[in-house]
Amino acid sequence: MKSILVRFLLLLLFVTSLPQNIAIAHHSYGESSYFERRDRHITSTHLRSVDELFCVDTKQSSLDLKETSNAIRDILYERNYDYLGNKRINFYREGGTSKHCSDLTKSELKDVKIRYIFTDNTAPYCGSSSYSCAVRPDLDYDKELNVYHCTYGIAYIRPRDFQNVPDYIINHETGHLLGMPDGGPNAPDKSPCQDSIMHSADYGCSNGRPKNPTANDLATVENETYSD
Ligand SMILES: [Zn+2]
Ligand SMILES: [Zn+2]
Repeated sequence: MKSILVRFLLLLLFVTSLPQNIAIAHHSYGESSYFERRDRHITSTHLRSVDELFCVDTKQSSLDLKETSNAIRDILYERNYDYLGNKRINFYREGGTSKHCSDLTKSELKDVKIRYIFTDNTAPYCGSSSYSCAVRPDLDYDKELNVYHCTYGIAYIRPRDFQNVPDYIINHETGHLLGMPDGGPNAPDKSPCQDSIMHSADYGCSNGRPKNPTANDLATVENETYSD
């Protein structure tokens, strides 16, 4: 959910900071190697032994932590992406309903793979305060497989997006952290619309803002858990 120009500039910045000539074969949705690299998912989805711990932080908003955290838990738990890949994806809440992400200790936070941070001012992270976005601050290069993954991801969510379309915004941004890039005529890669929560009205597709990832999305994420 951000302008093409901002996306492009961020992308340029990102890509030029990466080592070049990395062969990438990954994900059915990413059209260009740039997006493939940028849209790496969290490493842990390949591992049955590591749960996808998530935390929620509403300190920078007027949202109630308990209510918001429970809503996210309900969206994530035991449907959609959860349990894909023979439980390689297994969401688990860290911090209960009383601890924001920023209340967790360093060592607690180290194991948290997904942080949902609510703020009206997403501009410093998303390039504009008009959008929610997913950010992967720490890329991890796997020498053996010659691919990048990210050790964790942060979804910066605007409270208004969460109030208007809670399922869509959580499942869409989580979709990014599981490796799926945006798509559609107004997306950075200007791809055709596909049956996907990543290809939504935000990118010029006619499916509105669907609540849940499609079967196609779930298959993409599941296939990835079994590959590299
Ligand atoms: Zn998106
Ligand atoms: Zn992977």
